[in-house]
Amino acid sequence: MDEFTGNIVPVAVQDMFGRPLKSLRLSVTDRCNLRCRYCMPEPEYVWLPREDLLSFEEMAVLVGSFADLGVDKVRLTGGEPLLRRDLARLVRLLRQDRRITEVALTTNGVLLAESVQDLYYAGLDRITVSLDTLKPERFRQLTGRDEFSRVLEGIESVGKAGFTTSEARHGRDSRVQ
Ligand code: SF4
Repeated sequence: MDEFTGNIVPVAVQDMFGRPLKSLRLSVTDRCNLRCRYCMPEPEYVWLPREDLLSFEEMAVLVGSFADLGVDKVRLTGGEPLLRRDLARLVRLLRQDRRITEVALTTNGVLLAESVQDLYYAGLDRITVSLDTLKPERFRQLTGRDEFSRVLEGIESVGKAGFTTSEARHGRDSRVQ
């Protein structure tokens, strides 16, 4: 509380060591188009009703509240975030807040080629593609889907769209759920 105005002054969120928590992971959907054994091993799932998901405008308001608390980096995750239609519109909304200095995306890459250019123009800063193997047959066994070539296509499209920073991570560290 400000002692002169009586207004509530936001306090930067800190971890137990007093370090500021400046990064926020924002899950934009629970759905995924892969069935990784360690994450979604069943063939079918009951997803959240679409009307229960936050709209992009609501997410932007939420991120603004976290920015009040010191957050300046946002990473979009899922499920598979590119299953949210026109994700570039959310990136654009988040980029309008000058306190947010970086918007990143973690994706399995299956839908990346078709949306990467829009994401780049919207202001996305960074893309991480989660990929557990470089062997197509192993990929099919691990993910339950025959989408390896589309993932490679997605990774190749990142540079063509204009990004200079990309990461391909291996293993569970980079999985999203
Ligand atoms: S690990 Fe990622 S890509 Fe695999 S099923 Fe889970 S959310 Fe989808």
